[in-house]
Amino acid sequence: MKSLFILLKDYFFELLYPRNLTCVLCHSEVDGKELCDVCLGSIQFNTGRVCGSCGRMILSGAYPVCENCKTLNRYYDRGISVVTYDEYIKKLIFNFKYHDKRYIAHTMAGYMLKEIINLDLDIEFDSIVPVPLHETRFKSRGFNQAELISHFLSEMTGLKVDTSLKRISNTKPLNKLSSEERHDVLSDAFELTESIKKNIILIDDIFTTGATVNACALKLKEMGSGFILVTTFAVGE
Ligand SMILES: [Zn+2]
Ligand SMILES: [Zn+2]
Repeated sequence: MKSLFILLKDYFFELLYPRNLTCVLCHSEVDGKELCDVCLGSIQFNTGRVCGSCGRMILSGAYPVCENCKTLNRYYDRGISVVTYDEYIKKLIFNFKYHDKRYIAHTMAGYMLKEIINLDLDIEFDSIVPVPLHETRFKSRGFNQAELISHFLSEMTGLKVDTSLKRISNTKPLNKLSSEERHDVLSDAFELTESIKKNIILIDDIFTTGATVNACALKLKEMGSGFILVTTFAVGE
């Protein structure tokens, strides 16, 4: 993990990009940052007692896994998330996906790396794997947000991005399905023809029920992967 830390330091010192003039949320003037101090202060970072599976803050009750994750048969080893998915973050991620503000991915990657380093896991990671989008979705959107974050994370850490995990079925939006239905729909949604060896950081932008990252993790483990750390930027409230 030491090398990651050194690279993170470089990232903060260099701040090569992006050089923004206005805050992505409120459009007030900023100097080379994506977010102004007011917006930054409004973001709910996940701190204190957080779920070891999804990164949600656990305000009361079960620990170390939250109520939502208790019923999930999870195939990855650990899950972390930087912020809570509230109105502020919704806007940020909306801008990110639909207004082509790809540079937000750079900020997200920086925060995600900080979280990974803070975990202080005794694991040497070998590759970064983005949760894939189905080709049709990719074509309509023009980019995969998870892949974009992964590439920035790769620049910051020197770890390679492995995109050999593919999404082969284009599932309907999952938000109306129960977690069991999601599981069924997703169980054959991903394909991996060759093993991605060793320890993986699995990247997505949002963690909702975890069904998607879990289906990816199952496929990766079936094919012989080692430790899987799921890292998302935001997790549902
Ligand atoms: Zn702002
Ligand atoms: Zn959880």
